[in-house]
Amino acid sequence: MTQTAHGVEFSQQLSETPKSAEERAAVLANPGFGDYFTDHTAVVDYKVDADGNGGWQNARIEPYGPISLDPSAAVLHYGQEIFEGLKAYRHADGSVWTFRPEANAARLNKSARRLALPELPEEYFLGAIRELVQADKEWVPSGDGEALYLRPFMIATEAFLGVRAAREVSFRVIASPAGNYFGGELKPVSIWISREYARAGRGGTGAAKCGGNYAASLIAQQEAEANGCKQVLFLDHFNDDAVEELGGMNVFFVMKDGSLVTPALSGTILEGVTRMSVIQVAKDMGREVTERKITLDEWRDGVASGEITEVFACGTAAVITPIGVLKDATEFIGSEDAKAGETTMAIREQLLGIQTGTVEDTHGWLTRLV
Ligand SMILES: *Cc1c(COP(=O)(O)O)cnc(C)c1O
Repeated sequence: MTQTAHGVEFSQQLSETPKSAEERAAVLANPGFGDYFTDHTAVVDYKVDADGNGGWQNARIEPYGPISLDPSAAVLHYGQEIFEGLKAYRHADGSVWTFRPEANAARLNKSARRLALPELPEEYFLGAIRELVQADKEWVPSGDGEALYLRPFMIATEAFLGVRAAREVSFRVIASPAGNYFGGELKPVSIWISREYARAGRGGTGAAKCGGNYAASLIAQQEAEANGCKQVLFLDHFNDDAVEELGGMNVFFVMKDGSLVTPALSGTILEGVTRMSVIQVAKDMGREVTERKITLDEWRDGVASGEITEVFACGTAAVITPIGVLKDATEFIGSEDAKAGETTMAIREQLLGIQTGTVEDTHGWLTRLV
């Protein structure tokens, strides 16, 4: 047993067959994204007892491996699942830090409420991340733009087919060394407009980080890839084609006067931690940031007139990615040989600098893990 700084005890069952130093080095030489996992996983179980009281229990670190689930487990049938994504960064002195984990813990609970899952006390969330990264600290890469991607998730494990919120749930964290999400240099990407499919609707789960939203986005993502695009843009077809977000990233516009615009949180957009951090970093740089409705028409006309000078997407996995082209069968906005914009790059450098310890963390966003 070890006592974390957060006061939750995690029992430790360490792997008897961890990857060798050579195997690990081979992975870290070319980590990709989401292809390899570390030697351990953090787990906390939730159960409702006979008196109807729910509680989190049996917090533990155990070897990474397959999960044994009853075939009738609720998550397999009704998709009662939520997740998070954050990173652990190795700083130049070898220490390991994570970025705004309290925001992820809070968002997990917001998602939990929407999916009728139990809320997880913050100390379990932070404890699980700390214990897992400490057990697998050798897996945190140190290369430029690299990090250990952490994937907390919560699933309904109760075995039953009735349709109601599960009374048995499991919270887990897995970790995967990550290189550059889109691979290679920071070239502006082309984005496909989804006309037929929405990822979220009013009153739906768009503001929750749940697997179901991603399942619903995959067909649009396939359409994007078939048309040579990296990602898909979702619009609100019932609201003047207002720009919502990409499948897993928020969107920002840089205007001619240097200010930034990002779609307002409408209930159908996921509130990214990167989004809220970009807003703060841009303000710190003296820029005005407006959260408002911005339509496809404004995007097209703004790029044509020069009113919009840069567009970028942001999220934990890929940090900040410039958007070069937005298109579909009838639309072509931007240019194939666009270069990453200056403002996009300046904000990216600032944010990455804070995360990796080369720029002062004036907002207290970093938490030390190792
Ligand atoms: C996770 C996610 C984002 C980005 O959120 P970050 O906290 O910045 O990583 C944006 N959109 C969707 C749909 C997401 O699931």
